[in-house]
Amino acid sequence: MKQNKCNLCKSTENRLYVRLGGREIVKCSNCGFIFDDSQTTLPELKEKYEREDAYTRNFLISEDKVEHYLQDYYQDQITLIEKEVPAGTWLDIGCANGQFLCIMKQKGWKVLGVDISAESARLAQERFGIKVFCGDLLEAGFSPQQFDVISLWGTIEHMINPQEEIMEASRLLRTGGIFAVSTHNEDWYLTRIIIGLYKIFPRLLKKYIELMFDKEHLVFFSVRTLEKLLSDCGLKVISVTYEQPISFKYELGKFPLLVRIAANLLSLSDKLFRNGRKVIFICRRMPAAIRK
Ligand SMILES: [Zn+2]
Repeated sequence: MKQNKCNLCKSTENRLYVRLGGREIVKCSNCGFIFDDSQTTLPELKEKYEREDAYTRNFLISEDKVEHYLQDYYQDQITLIEKEVPAGTWLDIGCANGQFLCIMKQKGWKVLGVDISAESARLAQERFGIKVFCGDLLEAGFSPQQFDVISLWGTIEHMINPQEEIMEASRLLRTGGIFAVSTHNEDWYLTRIIIGLYKIFPRLLKKYIELMFDKEHLVFFSVRTLEKLLSDCGLKVISVTYEQPISFKYELGKFPLLVRIAANLLSLSDKLFRNGRKVIFICRRMPAAIRK
């Protein structure tokens, strides 16, 4: 095992969590943070997203369907954010082809994006007229307190250094501004059950584990580790929602009735037990004086 430092607490003590082929996912012995031990560098990451054209094509929708998309995608969170901050400048980090920002632009927000893929940045500009900084947030050179809202929808798990990036996002957010983040929740009970079973039946469950630990994901948060990171960056959590990933909703129709019933029961259990595959945090940026 390599001695990769934990991004959250800097401890070098960790233990193997899941092994997938040559890939090792480890868990920090000090704070419980789960991460890929591969030590990917930023140039490697940029090169990867240049080659990965599926990334830009994924979820690409036509402009006439944008409203429909909004009804399904983070609608409750957008309503809550707009209640807190009715207007201003919205930065979406990991904005991909810009379709989310297109929705917010139509709603009257001034929007800006950041994405590591040059192809995505080009598509966002061409298709929706959205300005996207191509690269890493730390390279973007935005001014402190420049933004009213910053969102990261399914982006944080792709980052090499989430702690530094979220700290930077917090610095760019005005006091009282809103920070929104969604990611997979590694504490979901089914994830833990499947990992346990994978150790006994590796061949049988390999495909599921590969889906759960997507090779593009470098870090894997639980609710506790994400809460700790947000709090360390001066972001106070005001809302936590659990749900199944969006593809669950869109692709469910293709499956047999029993699978659909099971999926609906899962969605119900997310609400009842306040635990689900995906977690969405909405936070308020605290004044510097009372930040930890
Ligand atoms: Zn740690």
